[in-house]
Parts: sequence; C-alpha cells; structure tokens
Amino acid sequence: MGTRSDRLIVLSIRPSPLARLLLAALLLHRRSCLAAADCPPPSPASRDEMGKAAVLVVVFDFDRTLIDCDSDNWVVTEMGLTQLFRQLYPTMPWTSLMNRMMRELHSQGKSVEDIAECLKRVPLHPQVISSIRAVHSHGCQLKIVSDANRFFIETILKQHGLLHCFSEIITNPAFEDEEGRLRIVPFHDTVCSPHGCSLCPPNMCKGIVLDRFLASELGDENTRFIYLGDGKGDYCPCLKLRTQDFLMPRKGFPLWEKIWSNRNLVKAQVHEWSNGDDLARTLIDLLDRILKNLDACPLDFTHEAPLRSIPL
Ligand SMILES: [Mg+2]
Ligand SMILES: [Zn+2]
Repeated sequence: MGTRSDRLIVLSIRPSPLARLLLAALLLHRRSCLAAADCPPPSPASRDEMGKAAVLVVVFDFDRTLIDCDSDNWVVTEMGLTQLFRQLYPTMPWTSLMNRMMRELHSQGKSVEDIAECLKRVPLHPQVISSIRAVHSHGCQLKIVSDANRFFIETILKQHGLLHCFSEIITNPAFEDEEGRLRIVPFHDTVCSPHGCSLCPPNMCKGIVLDRFLASELGDENTRFIYLGDGKGDYCPCLKLRTQDFLMPRKGFPLWEKIWSNRNLVKAQVHEWSNGDDLARTLIDLLDRILKNLDACPLDFTHEAPLRSIPL
C-alpha cells in the first residue's frame, strides 16, 4: 500500500508537527483508497451512505481530554468566582454548584454573552483540532460524552470551528431562562429516576450512554469504538468497551490509575497519551491501523504492538 515510500518521503522532508499531522491525514486517505483494491471495504463514509453501520466511532470526554483545561474551572476562575466556589463546594453536587455559579454571575449583571466570551478564550491544541478534522473527514462518527454542559461545550467547539464534526454531544443540558440567566441541569433526573450506578456521579452515568450506543446499530460487531478520557467518570463506560475497541486514557490521571489498578477488568486495547501532541498522534495512528485492518482484513492487534506505524 506504499507505506514504506510514504515513510521515506515524510522522513526526508522533515515537515513541522502540524504539517506532519495533515500529511498523515492525506496518507490515510490515500491508503484507504488503495486498500479498496485488495481489501474490499469502501471508505467509512460510503458505508454510512449505504445505510450500514459506521466503521469507527470516536467518543471524547471533554474536560482535560478534548480541551486541556476544565471548562467549569475556567469560567469560575476567569469570572472571579473562585472564593464563592470553594466556599460552596463541600455543600452541593457539582452540577448544582455550577448552576449556582451561573446564578451568581447573573446577579452580578453578567450576561450569557459575557460567559460565552469567556469560554471563547479556552485554548484548544492545534494538533487536536487537526486530528478531529482528519477523523471526521474519514467519515468516522465523533461524539462527546461529558459531565460539563451543552452551552460550554458548543461555545468552545464553535469558536474553534469543530462543532460540525460531532454527530452527538451528550451532556448536562443548559439553557438561558426568561430572565437571561444560564441554567444548568443534571443529565439524569437525580430525584425521580436516579441511574443507580455506584461508579458514577448522581447527575450522569456515562456507562448508560455507552450501553445505548452498543444497543443501537453502532453496536455492530464490525464497529470499533475509540474512547478518550481522563476522569473517574470515564471508568464506567470503559468497562463496557469490547475486545475490538480501543481506550485512550490520559496518563497519570484518575481513569488511567483506575485501569491499571486492575487491568483485567478492561477488555479494550489501551493506548495512553499525555498531552495534545500525544493525543493527536495516537488517535491518527489508531485510525490508520483500524481502517487498514477492517472487514476482509481481520484485526490482528496485540497489546504490545508498536504504536508508531506512521512517523508523525
Ligand atoms: Mg474529563
Ligand atoms: Zn456508571
């Protein structure tokens, strides 16, 4: 499939990291076209158009995964609420506390637009942006499952031109009420229908969300999931991943620690990452390998397999 010559070209011209990422995306496209000759599946996009299951679903946690910081903490800090936040933190659940912070901003005369302006300053790693665009351009489905809220997530993604890349954002609802105040409510109704999962915070069980994906056409045995996350709340969905799926925990963060405390409980292959560069490189590499091996060419990965098949 021209892999060796592709590598020689990449190594000889020594492009910048961003250029290398974009070049890798182009190589992936070329390889998936070439693969069609001896490995029948057409591109994932065309499979979707034919009404069949998507080949690859990439599920992102948001805070400290897709973005390097925590969007809730960002707004609290940037809008001068740190003291009140610390004072109330021991007294209420996280989502209620953030809703309370929004009430405080409203009482100070801050508008929803002011909050949006603050969110627009959240940085997003350029290579993470490129990798998301590359994955999307291959017809893979991208989803976000997050314990932040819809307003924060959509505002940040829109600012970086990425909102259209995601087919679904599953998170705590947020809306502007008739007084112009932003309200944030829990994803699950914690009073009338608690989710009952002991691993997850009361407002959201991400495992239930993953169960829903797996019960849909996305649960087809030919589909591969890649789940990226960092926090304790990402552990429950990771236990649902199957042997053909992939898990990308952020190294040194609570999810990574939970996984390695009993590695046998997670069936998916684990590929850790530390920062935005690493995330992008690992994700593109996995995409490359999965697309090369799907359908007529069975997956033949091992946990020890080298991760650097593309020289990014
Ligand atoms: Mg997170
Ligand atoms: Zn759960």
